[in-house]
Amino acid sequence: MPFKDPEKRKACARRYNASHPEVLRVASIRYRANHPERYREQCRQSRARRIEYIKKYNHQYAVNLRARFLDIYGRECARCHTTDVNFLTIGHKNNDGKEERREHGYWSMLKHIVEHPDHTRYETQCYNCNYLEWLTHIDGKHRVDVSEHINKRNARFRNDRVARRKRFLEVYGLVCARCGEGDQRVLTVSHRKNDGASDRRQNKNNQTRLLTLAVENPDHAKYETLCWNCNRTAGAG
Ligand SMILES: [Zn+2]
Ligand SMILES: [Zn+2]
Repeated sequence: MPFKDPEKRKACARRYNASHPEVLRVASIRYRANHPERYREQCRQSRARRIEYIKKYNHQYAVNLRARFLDIYGRECARCHTTDVNFLTIGHKNNDGKEERREHGYWSMLKHIVEHPDHTRYETQCYNCNYLEWLTHIDGKHRVDVSEHINKRNARFRNDRVARRKRFLEVYGLVCARCGEGDQRVLTVSHRKNDGASDRRQNKNNQTRLLTLAVENPDHAKYETLCWNCNRTAGAG
């Protein structure tokens, strides 16, 4: 009996699986259909076992893809010419980034942009310039739409938020606490302890409520004013 030895049996099974991929594929589909619960549980366990590897792989994938983007589109902001690579991101020249991201998801979009370079649609921008570009685009749209009743209401709501944001800046500083950027249009609320995600969750993603709380109970250990560039890199180091 050659297969009394479990190691030999496993080696034989591995050889068989490697030389019969089609049989394996069909068997796997059948197993999945017949035991959906068990299959899901096995996937969960497998993922839990490999989670460190998966995280490392995903991180490296993201780093490589971003580096390829910068190699193709340049390691310098096309608007203000900053060369700090930590500040650089994808700029959509036609302001259609939101739609493209919604359709494909961020990483698939970036993969597509890298694999099909199109310098008429994309360029390298820093986060500050990227945000200013978007603001200009949105402002133009608002000016066109504001005649309708519903948009008047939206505009009022938006003005409210703008006023709250202004009060935040008055309390926490009118310039970026890291680089001293004074253009108030690119200044944002920064969480000094990098707990922005949990703070937003607690406040049910309600930015207005978050701003009101931060202004009514000033906490300089928790919040500070940062520009988009510095805010994006605040948690990275
Ligand atoms: Zn820039
Ligand atoms: Zn800054």
